[in-house]
Amino acid sequence: MTDVWIGSDLDNTISSSYDLIKECWGTALGKDIQLGDIPSASDMLAILEQEEKKKFFKVFNSKFHQCKFLLDAIESLRFMRLKGYKIVIITSRSSKISKSTKQYLDYNQVPYDKLYCEDGIDKAAIIRELNCKFMIEDDIQLASKIAKYTQTYLINYPWNSSSFHKRFYMRDNIIRVSGWNEIMEHEYGNEWKTRRP
Ligand SMILES: [Mg+2]
Repeated sequence: MTDVWIGSDLDNTISSSYDLIKECWGTALGKDIQLGDIPSASDMLAILEQEEKKKFFKVFNSKFHQCKFLLDAIESLRFMRLKGYKIVIITSRSSKISKSTKQYLDYNQVPYDKLYCEDGIDKAAIIRELNCKFMIEDDIQLASKIAKYTQTYLINYPWNSSSFHKRFYMRDNIIRVSGWNEIMEHEYGNEWKTRRP
């Protein structure tokens, strides 16, 4: 049987990274920002100057292991794997921390089968190549590209919810959700609701 893949982003999708991102803005760039001001990963790359990016990622890359995992994400990934799906995690984190990101996932027993970790990675191309059943993202600009190839769940956050983002990046193939539970209910209905803990 051919493998059926499900794709997921890492930061702010499987792991809760916004506290560290907020801290990086403060420590590396001296800007005190609030949760509602945190930009999406795409916006951030567009906003920051080259030097600022270097400073920002120097701090991020040295502290990413502080990011906590979302327990419902782990439970959902485990459920999907038990159903026979393969999980691919695709992150735009630097390839310099690819090995340590893998160790961090393994140490925390995150269920997955394949990891792509590369700055500026073309997520849509990978999703297309693996013919993923669906993808889970928090970055609306990326979701907009990925949704050309597969259904994409977008987890609601302030950085993807402005009227500008909604107007220019939403696609029919993007489903906004409050979190993993909603994705799982949508995909698996009662089977998910009545699962054994
Ligand atoms: Mg993300």
